Amino acid sequence: MNDKEDLRNEIPEYVYIALARRGMEKISLDQCFLKNCDNEDPKLLEPFKKEEYEEVNKQTKKIYIKCKKCNGIFILKLETLKEVAKSTKHEGEEPLSMGLVYALDEKGKNLGHIGYF
Ligand SMILES: [Zn+2]
Repeated sequence: MNDKEDLRNEIPEYVYIALARRGMEKISLDQCFLKNCDNEDPKLLEPFKKEEYEEVNKQTKKIYIKCKKCNGIFILKLETLKEVAKSTKHEGEEPLSMGLVYALDEKGKNLGHIGYF
């Protein structure tokens, strides 16, 4: 397995988006999030770099992805919030964590919140 395959494994296959009154919908992250690009072919998406930060209650991963259809670069920012709903009733239980996914453009400008993983 090479580095690029490893990077692909860092990306959740699906994220969930909340729909008003209709529950949650699952969407694939195998798509280009840049404007005016409709690429949904994972073969044309190449993750090439990863940055990782660790904070007290949060782990942030940024995966840089090159789109071979529009030749643009975008960043998937994956934030894992730890202990978002720590249970006080069940001592010793693993605290729940929650993941948030954002798309950023090459310069780090936020393109929007995509969903939860
Ligand atoms: Zn694209």
